[in-house]
Amino acid sequence: MAVKIYVQKCSDYSQAKVAVGKLLDKLSPKLPEKGVVLLKPNLLMPALPERAITTHPAVVAGVCHWFRTHYPGAKLYIGDSSGCLGLAGTKLAFKTCGLVKLAEEYNAQLVPFESLPLIKNYNKHAKVWPKLSLPKLVVQADLIVNLPKLKTHSLTNYTGAVKNLYGCLPGGIKGEGHIVGANPHRFAELIVDVFEAVKPRVNIMDAVIGMEGAGPSNGQTKQTGYLLAGSDAVALDAVALKMAKIPESFVLTQTAAKERGLYPEYSIVGKFKPVKYKLPVRWKSMILSVLPSSIASAITSKMVQGFMKSPEIDYNKCTKCLTCVRICPAKAITTKAGLPVIHHDKCIKCLSCAEHCPEGAIHTKQNLADNLKRLFRGESDEETK
Ligand code: SF4
Ligand code: SF4
Repeated sequence: MAVKIYVQKCSDYSQAKVAVGKLLDKLSPKLPEKGVVLLKPNLLMPALPERAITTHPAVVAGVCHWFRTHYPGAKLYIGDSSGCLGLAGTKLAFKTCGLVKLAEEYNAQLVPFESLPLIKNYNKHAKVWPKLSLPKLVVQADLIVNLPKLKTHSLTNYTGAVKNLYGCLPGGIKGEGHIVGANPHRFAELIVDVFEAVKPRVNIMDAVIGMEGAGPSNGQTKQTGYLLAGSDAVALDAVALKMAKIPESFVLTQTAAKERGLYPEYSIVGKFKPVKYKLPVRWKSMILSVLPSSIASAITSKMVQGFMKSPEIDYNKCTKCLTCVRICPAKAITTKAGLPVIHHDKCIKCLSCAEHCPEGAIHTKQNLADNLKRLFRGESDEETK
């Protein structure tokens, strides 16, 4: 039977509580009376809700309200691991993203995944990452409610329901994932490994105000006006991509899910008017999407990296906070005279630094010849500044 993806109009966040309630009424998730529900919003970084980087608190509140009404005895948790900055970063994200008060109001517990025990080597059948470790709560919750935000993404072109689950990995493990999945095809497979391990039964996407352009954190906000919901994250992403007019072939997690037989038939319940989202940079996305994964893995990772965007620091905007130095999983950013310097020979182009720079001071550049020259000569930003 085809999976149903429900579309609910929601022009602004003041309507979110009612709109989320209607969607949950339709999905009608079943739960033991005192069951454990884990809400997984997108809390990429400590950012105010109006920046549209993170799932809006009104959507999270709507979900809490519905479960408190229908399952008053349920144990509600709101969990995430914000970027790669560890426990302190996630605690700050809960506060800045507006979740502390609502957690109190609905008697929900905020859980930074960094603080939880892990189950190691969880998905032994994973294609790319059998050593994947997940927090015990993610594995043992009776119900996971995945709450992604509709955004474009400089590395993966799009981030939605499937990609949001990458945040189930606590800080440092996410960094490890970027090393294991060192090219876009492999990274997409790795994200699908995580999706297969987590498989949330309820997915509700905040597409009220999304982000286009240089997402997931440095793009422009995009008024879209909808919430989407369904029991399957891949099918939900398929509908969100139609809504944002992003070609599905540009999104490698969708391709990987299809190849693994994880792409169900679906039907859309409700209507929407598509809103065209600008992609990070179009020609580069096209090159990567037409490159079959078999070819991508057959050629060297350095060649693949030549096609990928490089991070560039705008020293006029940099405030020397050194978040990028702490976050870089490849240890490719060091400091000189207090300023961050990128060593392109070590950089794996994961773009975590650009994602998490609070000043938007790290841009991406797409010059194939320049990329290859830097990779093979081992240049750093300092030399090219
Ligand atoms: S994260 Fe951004 S502002 Fe902070 S040091 Fe790095 S480039 Fe500069
Ligand atoms: S420099 Fe930036 S893009 Fe390169 S590996 Fe480090 S975090 Fe990733």
